[in-house]
Formats: sequence, C-alpha cells, structure tokens
Amino acid sequence: MDNQPDILRYQRDRSLADAPVFSVGLQLRLPDNTKVYLALGATEFTLTFSDDTALHYDLQRRFTKLVTLADYHRRSLSGKILHTVKADGIHRSIVSDDVVELANKCVLAVQRAFDTAAVEFARPGNAPDLFRPLLDLAAHFDIAASRADAARFRTLYRDVAILPPDQYNAIVFQATEGCAYRGCLFCDFYRDRPFRAKTPEEFAAHVDAVVAFHGKTHRNSIFLGEANALTLPHETLMEMLRILRARFDLPISSFVDAFTKQPDFAALGLSRVYVGMETGDDDLLRWLRKPATAESVTATVTAAKAAGTSVGVIVLLGAGGERFAASHVRETVRVLNALPLGRGDYIYFSPLVVKPGSAYEAPLLSPEQIWNQEQALRTGLKFFSKPYVARYDIESFVY
Ligand code: SF4
Repeated sequence: MDNQPDILRYQRDRSLADAPVFSVGLQLRLPDNTKVYLALGATEFTLTFSDDTALHYDLQRRFTKLVTLADYHRRSLSGKILHTVKADGIHRSIVSDDVVELANKCVLAVQRAFDTAAVEFARPGNAPDLFRPLLDLAAHFDIAASRADAARFRTLYRDVAILPPDQYNAIVFQATEGCAYRGCLFCDFYRDRPFRAKTPEEFAAHVDAVVAFHGKTHRNSIFLGEANALTLPHETLMEMLRILRARFDLPISSFVDAFTKQPDFAALGLSRVYVGMETGDDDLLRWLRKPATAESVTATVTAAKAAGTSVGVIVLLGAGGERFAASHVRETVRVLNALPLGRGDYIYFSPLVVKPGSAYEAPLLSPEQIWNQEQALRTGLKFFSKPYVARYDIESFVY
C-alpha cells in the first residue's frame, strides 16, 4: 500500500512512517467517511481522528488521555481527570469522569466499523490483525471499568498526594503513608491523613499488589513514598529496598526531611532524594512552621551528594508574601549557591498554592509578583556546573 497517512498533522517535521513510536500504524476510512489513524508505540496505543482529536491508552489498555486542539483531559491511575486548557495561560481543574464515556463511545464506533472500513494505510501489512485485539481491549475500558479500576487503586494507595515532577511517571511504592509531622503552615497534602509506617511484611504484600495493578508498564523509575519514608529505622528501610531490588532494576528515589535523623545515604544507594527546602531564610522557615534550617538543609544535601545520591531541592515561590519577599530571595539564592549541586541535580521553583480551609492566612503574591520572584531567584543562581532548574506546578499533578 503506497498511500501515506494524512491524519497526524502534528507530525509536521517528519514522515509519520519514520516516527519510531508509530512503527505500527493503520489508517481507516469509516463508512461515515470519518478517518481514524491507529498507532501502537512502545508505551501506548492511540487513535487519532480527522478532527485532530486523539485518544490514548496505556499498555494495559487503560484510557489515559483525550487531546484536542483546544484542550487536554488526562485520566490518572487513581481515576482523577485533570482538564487542561491553554487560553491566556494554562488553566487546570479536576473534572468529572464523563470524558471516559466520550472516549469509549469513539472507540466503540471504530470497533463496530472496523470490518467494513477502507484501509488507507497499513504498516506492517498485517496491521489490521494486530489492531483488532487492541481495539477490543480498549473498548472494554468504559466508565464502569474505569471506576472499578480507580476503586482498586484506592485499595493500594488511598492516595498519592504529590511527587516531584521528574517522578510523575514513577511506580510509587509506599513504605509509609502520610507525613509524620503535618505541621507546615502551607502544606495540605496530608493534613487529614494519619501517618502510618508499614512493616516489611506489609510492604512486600503492597509491592505484590501494586505490581499486579500496574501489569505491563512503561514506567521506568520507582518512588518510595510518602513524605518521609526515609525516617524509618535503617534496617526496615534496607529490607524494603531489598524487596524492591529483587524485582526491579530501576532507579529508586524518595523525599528526605532536613529536620529528622539523617539517613545513611551511602547504604541506601538511592538515585535521587528531594528536599523541601522552601527558603533559605530561617526566619521565614520558622514563620512557615517548617522545623528545618538553612544549615540542616545544607547538611542533608551535602551528605546525600557525598554518598553519590543526586538531589532535587524544592523552593516555595511566594512564601511569606511581601513581608518576606526580599529576604526570601536573598537568603535562598545565598544558600542554593553554597550547595554542592551540579549537573544531574534539580532545583524546583514551586508556586505556593493555598487551598480553601488552609492554615496559611497571609496575603498572597500576585502571579506577576511570583513570576518576578522566580526570575530574581534564577538570575541569582551561580553554579559552575548548572543543576537543572524548572517550575514545579503542584496543580499539574495527578497520579
Ligand atoms: S511540607 Fe513536608 S514536612 Fe511539612 S507538612 Fe508537608 S509533607 Fe510534612
């Protein structure tokens, strides 16, 4: 078949047939003249329609995304739907799961018309035979299946409140649940969830259940949750890591507190730890009720780096409002520049988000002031070998 697929207009700069993730592709014209392009990549199965709507399914044929030219719906493993619209900036919200039903209707229409559709492009030649079972599996993921899958997720995790941005795609295993401290003024992630530490036996059962839930997956790192898993006794942690390493050859990372006993980084052998530094200003840290200091953050980062563990440092943009704005920038730049960070490390700038009912009551900086603060911080950074510096928008996170 000589025809080239003509649906995937976003593949502007290269022939679709050359795109490695779409090495298996099939373009159909349905009896109602709708065109659809089915593609199988290493990590997903997609259907793209002539109006540029694209549906994405993961390797387990769970619906993961509906993308149009105007917006974007993403279904997380927990069943939450994050809706993102780009118009005068990026607007995100959690919406109902109606989009799962919509996606399912589209897939069912393709499935029903499959045998009578005209094949306009097929690569390889037997692509129709390859796609039929994929389509049948995707068609099973209706709203009832989605809700049942989300209910199963909640038996494993209850919730995954937050991850660092470079770990959004990690497989999460929870050695602990919640946060043992829960006192920081600005943090609502675990406010209503009691802290709980798992025993190694419970953790092993959790790992079995999580592996079964994920099935075949393209996720290529492990995050050991939740907020302060590394406060567990050393032997417990080592046993949990042994359980993980017996099953996976993947990098493992975790959050680490700068206000509790320092873990033995060298023995743990984690690939990266993430420190919520928030600010280099000790007065502001006290005001935020975060029981760390610039000195304890520096000691934690230095110990991790000395053990060969890379570090992600998280700074809270807008912390303390105008009252602390100047000292926040000045002290944060001073402390960051003194940290032994370099290539392979991360500095994240995370704008403060205050949810209704939060204990944080000070006046907030405007988006423009936040942006200016971020620029001032970025400008102040002077590293010989620069760590990766990025925004960390916690509202973009769903797991
Ligand atoms: S910022 Fe970290 S230590 Fe503070 S309450 Fe939140 S999770 Fe706990």
